[in-house]
Amino acid sequence: MNVPALSPEDITALAAMVDADRFSTGGSVLDLHARDQSHHHARKPDVVIWPTAASEVMAIVAYANDHRLPVTGWGSGSSLEGNPIPVRGGIILDFSRMNRILSIQEENFQADVEPGVIYQDLNARLRHTGLFFPPDPGARATIGGMIANNAGGTTTVRYGSTKDYVLKLTVVLANGELVDMGCRVKKSSSAYDLVRLFAGSEGTLGIVVKATIRLVGLPAEFSATIANFPSVETASRAVFELIRAGLDPAALELLDAECIQLINQEKDLGLNVSPTLFMEFQGPTLNQLSETMEMARDICEDAGCSEFRTGLGRAERNRLFEARHELGEMVVRNHPDGRIRVMDMAVPIATYPEMIADARRELTASGLSGYIFSHAGDGNIHINVVGEKDNSAQWTQVDQLTDKLVQKALDLDGTATGEHGVGIGKRQFMETEHGGSLAWMKRIKTLFDPNGILNPGKIFPSS
Ligand SMILES: Cc1cc2nc3c(=O)[nH]c(=O)nc-3n(C[C@H](O)[C@H](O)[C@H](O)COP(=O)(O)OP(=O)(O)OC[C@H]3O[C@@H](n4cnc5c(N)ncnc54)[C@H](O)[C@@H]3O)c2cc1C
Repeated sequence: MNVPALSPEDITALAAMVDADRFSTGGSVLDLHARDQSHHHARKPDVVIWPTAASEVMAIVAYANDHRLPVTGWGSGSSLEGNPIPVRGGIILDFSRMNRILSIQEENFQADVEPGVIYQDLNARLRHTGLFFPPDPGARATIGGMIANNAGGTTTVRYGSTKDYVLKLTVVLANGELVDMGCRVKKSSSAYDLVRLFAGSEGTLGIVVKATIRLVGLPAEFSATIANFPSVETASRAVFELIRAGLDPAALELLDAECIQLINQEKDLGLNVSPTLFMEFQGPTLNQLSETMEMARDICEDAGCSEFRTGLGRAERNRLFEARHELGEMVVRNHPDGRIRVMDMAVPIATYPEMIADARRELTASGLSGYIFSHAGDGNIHINVVGEKDNSAQWTQVDQLTDKLVQKALDLDGTATGEHGVGIGKRQFMETEHGGSLAWMKRIKTLFDPNGILNPGKIFPSS
């Protein structure tokens, strides 16, 4: 039984700040905001509030600061490391109703959005303009949640992650003050880059109430390819060579045979069941693309590829990438009695083959069931390991495997998280990963949030 963080007086005071239908202490609402899509334990907030204006956020956060109440931002709750779980209860600010696309400035390749805009909805609105917002975590994530987690996805290898697309932010600080940061220019050498400090801070430094994001032109032509390999090791060698050759794929995904089997079973795609690379290349003309494809074929064949299939049409390409995006959910669906731990780490590309080989070896040695899939082009590896829900001994084994593989990534000069963020699950690695700079991060946190009200219990190892 959790002790409420809010008193009845707090509930009354906060309820007066918004319309009645945007404030709830109802059990089912609290339950829905008690966990994200991760394996981490649920914790209910005391209240959920749906702000629709920056002024409301300012008033709520200022009250919370005066009364030392935890405040946690909530986008779609699709995080995979417990990032929005209100581990100390308190207030959830759910941004799903603060979701207006404020303006689209085609001539400047920019859009101003509220934090609750779902990125797929923005891209649907942009379709007729020939522009798009590239970061694509797959889940129906909000732009506020993507900024907070610095989300990436299949296109990060070419386009970069969310941080690379944020030009300006309007943020409510812990004392309720509203601050604008950044500028509309693509490059700037002007003073400290607060936008990049706040992006990736998981709502621990301030609450984003508006963002100006950068858009890019939709590519004129694309070509999608599937390459099969006898082992994940040979496939990962091809990944390294493709990147080294400077082929600049727009997506370069590695899926092990278990993933392919699952996709075939659910989507009836008839793919060869073996470790597979899904690739996409983009360019101005088909001629240029066909040269790139020939080079990719040579590289894959040299690495031991057993089949290389090009010329996939748009429909087939979309089916493949849809299946790739749904893999996480497929794993959950196929293990109804299991609990899934989603691992996420990244290594420099030169060490990617070693990391993949080690992951495969450790997974097999553990006897646990798991699926390896990877945004391979940027050295980012995911393993979804399945444990029985109530088998605590097995769950300890899953934790040990995670620790071992994250440590391996760090030993290879990699990172404990390529895109899912630190949340709850990666806190214990922060000391090892960041060494002395972690103390400076703590000072930054204390400077912006001296009372520790913003998304407490995240990023920093628990003391
Ligand atoms: C099937 C599936 C596939 C996924 N694939 C990927 C992937 O390929 N790449 C990837 O990067 N992620 C992936 N994710 C994880 C997740 O979708 C991303 O981390 C996403 O950015 C979370 O967005 P959200 O809107 O759900 O945010 P939430 O989960 O609700 O919140 C994320 C964080 O943002 C904070 N926050 C929310 N709104 C604000 C705000 N306005 N101001 C300040 N802080 C705020 C929260 O407190 C929390 O710390 C996947 C998830 C699922 C379920």
